[in-house]
Amino acid sequence: MIYLDNAATTPVLPEVVEVMSDTLLTTFGNPSSIHSYGRVAFQTVRQSREAIAQALQVSARQITFTSGASESNNTAIIGYALAHRKLGNHIVTTAIEHPSVINTVQYLHDRHGFDITFVQPEPDGSVSADSIKNALRPDTILVSMMWSNNETGQLLPVSEVGEILSHHQAVFHVDATQVMGKIPVHPLEIKADFVSASGHKFHGPKGVGFLYHADLLFDPLIHGGEQEEKRRAGTENLHSLVGMAKALQISVAHMRENYEKVEQLKTHLFEQISDLTFYKNEFGKSMPHVVNLAFPEQNHDLLLTKLDLAGIAISTGSACTAGTIEPSHVLASIYGESSPKLKENIRISFSELNTIDEIDEFAIKLKNALK
Ligand code: PMP
Repeated sequence: MIYLDNAATTPVLPEVVEVMSDTLLTTFGNPSSIHSYGRVAFQTVRQSREAIAQALQVSARQITFTSGASESNNTAIIGYALAHRKLGNHIVTTAIEHPSVINTVQYLHDRHGFDITFVQPEPDGSVSADSIKNALRPDTILVSMMWSNNETGQLLPVSEVGEILSHHQAVFHVDATQVMGKIPVHPLEIKADFVSASGHKFHGPKGVGFLYHADLLFDPLIHGGEQEEKRRAGTENLHSLVGMAKALQISVAHMRENYEKVEQLKTHLFEQISDLTFYKNEFGKSMPHVVNLAFPEQNHDLLLTKLDLAGIAISTGSACTAGTIEPSHVLASIYGESSPKLKENIRISFSELNTIDEIDEFAIKLKNALK
């Protein structure tokens, strides 16, 4: 089997599994207990938080552990909006966000009466900082934008938007799920107030993530005990957050070489398929780990099935829409709802664990599947 669906999730590194199983076996205390088992567990949580804060160059109290980027996005958006309603009723986001942002702002609209502006991409597919600026109103309290799109790899202008928002009351939430561990993510540099991430996108475990937050107030989603400075109740997912911290440390330590390796894989893929007729769903500058392309009049579901039978794992778009008949909302916002292109897109996504040989084999199997 060849795994080329790393934007959906990544294999867990053996070093990560090792620290996780070690934690499960030895550090089983409840971090809230006052005896020595609890104190050791508490220290372990503290060290993981510090490791993540260090990678982001922020302070440890600004990191809250969550169950993943979906929860981080929900916490930032719902938590901030409900706590700051007196400042305004308007939220800005883009039409190409992950469902954990789109459906969250939609919920705030439907149940709490917030006004939402979904900024549409330009005709060339790009999302401009100017279009975000034009959407701002005096009562805008929050702008939520992804750093890189999970279906196309497209990079959004987070630094420019951060700069614009430094002159506006609205806080800035950045969904950094697809870039964390792959490029430097420093919230202070991009002037972000919230940054979301998920452990399993950088070779950590699933079901754990974190939210960076500047020193501002937001309501918790989960009420209960006093864990996470009362920002997120519930006994900590100790082994998972240890694994996530380890995975991020490893990714950051090898960031440049991993990035270059993945760039080479992408270049090699295009060399190997240069004799095929295809078009790219690429919209400006992109992360190299995601390639979204299409073969005219080739149905992507059929192609995916053929490749799966041939031992290749890729997807059509996000894992959240794969397996359903829903077309990509990202491509629909660029090409229009009725475009035949919505049935053609495939997403190939790499990690540094992939090899040139795997790309060669993928190219051969792809050509067979297209015959
Ligand atoms: N945002 C983006 C950009 C993502 O790619 C994903 C995962 N597909 C998420 C949020 C949600 O992450 P999780 O499923 O781990 O909560």
